[in-house]
Amino acid sequence: MSLLLGPMCQHIPGRKGLTDHSDAKHLMPAKEVYIPLFAGNNTQVEILVNEGDHVKIGTRLANTKSAFPVPIYSSVSGIYKGVTKRPHNSLKPQPHMVIELDAVQEKQQAFEPLDWHNASHDEMVEFVKNAGIIGQGGAGFPTYVKYMKVENIDTLIINAVECEPYITADYKCIMDNVEDFVHGVRILQKMAEVNSVKIGVKKTHPDLIEFIRQEINRENAAGIEVVAVPDVYPMGGERTLIYTILKRRYDRLPGECGVIVNNAETAMLIARAFENGDALSKKYVTFSGEGLKYPVNVSVPVGMCVAEIIDQLGGYIKKVESVRLIAGGPMMGKAMVSDQICIDRAMNAITVLKNEEEPEMTCLRCGRCTAHCPMGLQPVRIANAVKANDTDEMDKRGAMLCIECGLCAYVCPSHIQVTENVRKAKRLLQMKAKRK
Ligand code: SF4
Ligand code: SF4
Repeated sequence: MSLLLGPMCQHIPGRKGLTDHSDAKHLMPAKEVYIPLFAGNNTQVEILVNEGDHVKIGTRLANTKSAFPVPIYSSVSGIYKGVTKRPHNSLKPQPHMVIELDAVQEKQQAFEPLDWHNASHDEMVEFVKNAGIIGQGGAGFPTYVKYMKVENIDTLIINAVECEPYITADYKCIMDNVEDFVHGVRILQKMAEVNSVKIGVKKTHPDLIEFIRQEINRENAAGIEVVAVPDVYPMGGERTLIYTILKRRYDRLPGECGVIVNNAETAMLIARAFENGDALSKKYVTFSGEGLKYPVNVSVPVGMCVAEIIDQLGGYIKKVESVRLIAGGPMMGKAMVSDQICIDRAMNAITVLKNEEEPEMTCLRCGRCTAHCPMGLQPVRIANAVKANDTDEMDKRGAMLCIECGLCAYVCPSHIQVTENVRKAKRLLQMKAKRK
């Protein structure tokens, strides 16, 4: 495995100014939310409420039955209307629980809070599992799993980098909730059983760095420090961040080099769960891009429909057909098939770009995709192997190491969708492994 930094990290225009100066807007749906039940292929779900039941914010709605189960809690109060299939970010329609909102929006404590100062490691891990907390950086991996075995961990890294263009949800969320953030970091520090915590923030956000430092001092939080990292892409990728801060490398998972990485918003959820018994109900999500009339960060309940949010924000610049929607940022996000997709528990951004895709041209063999790949891969060769349907060659070229950062497509002068081909190679290799 190679991880070469320097020329393989790229400064790309951040476009953060579209949203980072304005206040987050707090929005509510007019009628219903649709809470996605999808948690990865083959995940079974046990629904715990009956049609017609009244539920509150914090009512436990369902349990997932996967290798790493997590419960799902209600983000609103109202009447549970049943399950319906709707467009989903997984590209296939998926089941969603429909809740018709009531006027009062009553809240209940989702679970008993836990005195983390006196709790054992195992009690804390079990608590986070029961709280249904999943990573807020986009992947949605259950948080408790990272903390189950901490014997070899010596450093916790909190990823507040947000290196993707347009996205400022973490920035805004921390600025609005810095006490919860630092408090949550302290709880994670205890659960990881480490002294050393590094909070990675881009050096282009000096206000955020100073704000967090002040709160760390106010809380007298020993061992926690903010590290200002360079404004290059993909600095928010785990491998790049760990290497930049600690000069360590790993093969498959950060735990192999003694590190746990968690996203900033996850720390805030942890604080609210331990202190108040709150489950995740509302999310900060960046709605940005040149395809929107008024880009801004929003705080919305999980399950609110993207089309309704965009409507409440003033709509698209032109018709929906003239824009491209991406769940996430433009580099690593996924193209959305429809704006009827709903906010799920791990979503942090919807990027809306003008539909100005350039036509693909012939490969110039310029080698730029290879020169910029942070994983030291040769994306064009993997793409060629995909065209030839040669899975052995895809494997030999290390396709599975791709972190899907999007840089190879970004730098390609021929506008070739190189990243998409490498993603396809990964899917083909996974299918091949399953068949075996
Ligand atoms: S998307 Fe994958 S192959 Fe392309 S530059 Fe990023 S890591 Fe390399
Ligand atoms: S950057 Fe584009 S044109 Fe250049 S080698 Fe890679 S795929 Fe070909």
